[in-house]
Amino acid sequence: MQPIGLFGGTFDPIHYGHLRTAFELWQELRLAEVRFLPTGSPPHREQPLADAELRLRMVQAAVADQPAFVVDDREVRRTGISYSVDTLTELRAEYPDRSLCLLLGMDAFLGLPNWHRWRDLLGLAHIVVAHRPGWKAPTMGPLGEVMVDHGTGTIRELHEKTAGRIYVHAVTQLEISSTELRQLIVSGRDPRYLVPDEVRHILRESRCYARE
Ligand code: ATP
Repeated sequence: MQPIGLFGGTFDPIHYGHLRTAFELWQELRLAEVRFLPTGSPPHREQPLADAELRLRMVQAAVADQPAFVVDDREVRRTGISYSVDTLTELRAEYPDRSLCLLLGMDAFLGLPNWHRWRDLLGLAHIVVAHRPGWKAPTMGPLGEVMVDHGTGTIRELHEKTAGRIYVHAVTQLEISSTELRQLIVSGRDPRYLVPDEVRHILRESRCYARE
């Protein structure tokens, strides 16, 4: 059975950097599907921020025409702080014998040691790191060490084992970030060609990042 890709994010809003990365990883790693997991409302983030329901709606609209992309709303529905390790524990219980691949941009991977119980993640899933512009794979520190112990250069291992490998894969680099998109929208500019049209319509109609 092919691995399931898990792509978590704030998706505030979702953009073509996310979608193209997920698409290339789905194709090149021969994943059964990519499951998008929008986070719930993180209490510490600054406004303006689209609420969880709206971010979920934008993710659903963005992937609606791609059958291999699935939206999983469990983190939005969960109350309280949502940790990836809890989500992966749930998914592992649902798919005990299936390869699970946590898909991360390199910036997210570099921040991994700050995640709650981050070392446990590799007991639950593989980690697939997509190169992002300007970032280099770590060779030192705690991440450098886990790369030595868990790094692999072959996609086959992601299929043969259910968890425990780290695989770095280059994707087409689209220098788009949600932060820059929000700034662009706040300043009255049009996000066309940076986000799918369906997402652009929701942004327009909800005015979620517009200045009051
Ligand atoms: P923000 O600017 O608000 O931090 P973001 O654009 O980085 O947002 P997130 O929702 O935080 O988006 O990211 C979700 C995942 O997508 C992370 O693993 C991140 O590394 C990855 N990602 C974000 N932007 C890109 C991009 N342009 N290309 C490839 N991966 C990306």
